[in-house]
Amino acid sequence: MMRHHANTPRAKAVLKANHAWSDCIHVIYNNTCARCKRKVLADNPMLRSLLHPHHIISVGVNPSLRWAILNGILLCYECHCWATDHPAQCDEWLRNEFPTLWQFMQDNQFKRPRFQVLRIDAEQAYEELAKLKAKLVKMGKQHPA
Ligand SMILES: [Zn+2]
Repeated sequence: MMRHHANTPRAKAVLKANHAWSDCIHVIYNNTCARCKRKVLADNPMLRSLLHPHHIISVGVNPSLRWAILNGILLCYECHCWATDHPAQCDEWLRNEFPTLWQFMQDNQFKRPRFQVLRIDAEQAYEELAKLKAKLVKMGKQHPA
C-alpha cells in the first residue's frame, strides 16, 4: 500500500480519485454487499461507511487498476474482513459468483490500460469517475450519499 501525505496537492488528488471510485462502486452495486446482499441506506454516511469497495486485482499487483471500475466490488465490513483474511476463498467466490468479470480481470491483471502512472493521472481519474458517477445516477441508480 502506498502512503501519501495528506497535505500535498498530489495526495489530495489521490484522495479525491479514491473517493470518486468508491462512489461509483457504491452506485453500481446499489449500496448492497455483493456477497451477503446486505443493503445500507444510501443517505446515511455513517452507515454507508460500513460498505467497502474491494479491489478484485489488488493495488499491489497492479497499481494502474486502482481506479478501474471493473476492478471494484462492494462488500460489507464483515465480508471485507473475510475477503482480506481469506484471499484464496474470496478469489474462488468471485470466480463462481462473477465468472465473466473475474475472467476479465484475470486476463487484464498485468495490463496497464489507463491511468498508467498514478503520479500523473489522479486528477484525470477523478474527473472521469465524477462524470461516470453523474451518468450512473442519472440512469436511475441510487445516489450513494
Ligand atoms: Zn456482506
